[in-house]
Amino acid sequence: GENIVVKDLAEKLNLNVSQVITKLIGMGVMATQNQSIDGETAAIIAEKFGAAVEFIPVETNDVSEDNFGLDFVDKDEDLKLRPPVVTVMGHVDHGKTSLLDAIRQTSVTKSEAGGITQHIGASVANINNKKIVFLDTPGHEAFTSMRARGAQVTDIAILVVAADDGVMPQTIEAINHAKAANVPIIVAINKIDKPTANIDRIKQELVENGLIPEDWGGNTITVPVSAKQKIGIDDLLEMILLVAEIGELKANPNRRAVGTIVEAQLDKGKGPLATVLVQKGTLKVGDMVVSGTSSGRIRAMLDDKGKRVKKAGPSIPVMILGLSEVPNAGDLLYCVEDEKTARNIADKRRDKIREEQMKLSSKVSLDDLFEKI
Ligand code: GDP
Ligand code: MG
Repeated sequence: GENIVVKDLAEKLNLNVSQVITKLIGMGVMATQNQSIDGETAAIIAEKFGAAVEFIPVETNDVSEDNFGLDFVDKDEDLKLRPPVVTVMGHVDHGKTSLLDAIRQTSVTKSEAGGITQHIGASVANINNKKIVFLDTPGHEAFTSMRARGAQVTDIAILVVAADDGVMPQTIEAINHAKAANVPIIVAINKIDKPTANIDRIKQELVENGLIPEDWGGNTITVPVSAKQKIGIDDLLEMILLVAEIGELKANPNRRAVGTIVEAQLDKGKGPLATVLVQKGTLKVGDMVVSGTSSGRIRAMLDDKGKRVKKAGPSIPVMILGLSEVPNAGDLLYCVEDEKTARNIADKRRDKIREEQMKLSSKVSLDDLFEKI
């Protein structure tokens, strides 16, 4: 809701509650410290004290209130190891895209090679029968937009730093995002093929930003690589698997699926297409699903190589066909019992959004009225 208790507002603004009440009275609003005022009034008060109030938009997928009991905590004994989901982050031009390409090329098995890779926003690398899932979304976007929606899909962050350039503003931003999300960072020191590359200088700059390399006595894994000349790629993949192993990433594959939309678009012929990263359970063709106000039965699923698949377990990205509308990236997708349940949930969410929009527009018209007076 957009209401706030006067006392809470005072606390948030670091003010004495009487200061806030005095200002309210000045505005003609009579409220005691335990009464609540609407968000707009709160914003005006905040402004008077030189602070800003941020309105958090109503999410279509607010799991705290309207997950309709779709999610539940799994028992420890039902949890099985799952592949790590990795996001590549770093300053522009330091080689994120090149590194993902290099990994894709080194990790495709013979049977997969030569095929046209379907762009689904994520890819699965196979290393000695172990999988690693890479998200294509630029790291900071994946972190900000998805985390704003409460979704955490990344297990490990690869921080790419060009050895001829060093730690830059977006590198620091990436470090902060990963730290805030409590995600372990592996540093890929890229472009070591360049004559001006200086690995020690990069390590020094990492230290200055709170990442102490392992070989300097800290606990940050750094791997020198060249995405262009494919040097060190295997070492990097090995380190990812090592960090994943230490993290003991687990999920219950034997339950109704829950996943996160990582990408979605409308295809003229096929209708709404969405890439889902399955996080719990196993998603299957024929499943009834709901994501935000979008629902439908899964007609077909494609893996990251463009191959039709019938099911996808934890950490696996798949493109799904069959949704009624294009869902939002970052929203959760739930598998539900039947069509009626899916429709009901989508309808209730739609009603809720409409209600919020009406509330907003009635506020606006009231303001207009006062302006005219
Ligand atoms: P992004 O912006 O982080 O995705 O960076 P790109 O992958 O697009 O790479 C930026 C530029 O750096 C391109 O011209 C790449 O060819 C080049 N590049 C990437 N990796 C390497 C590398 O290991 N060595 C050299 N010499 N150049 C690289
Ligand atoms: Mg790029």
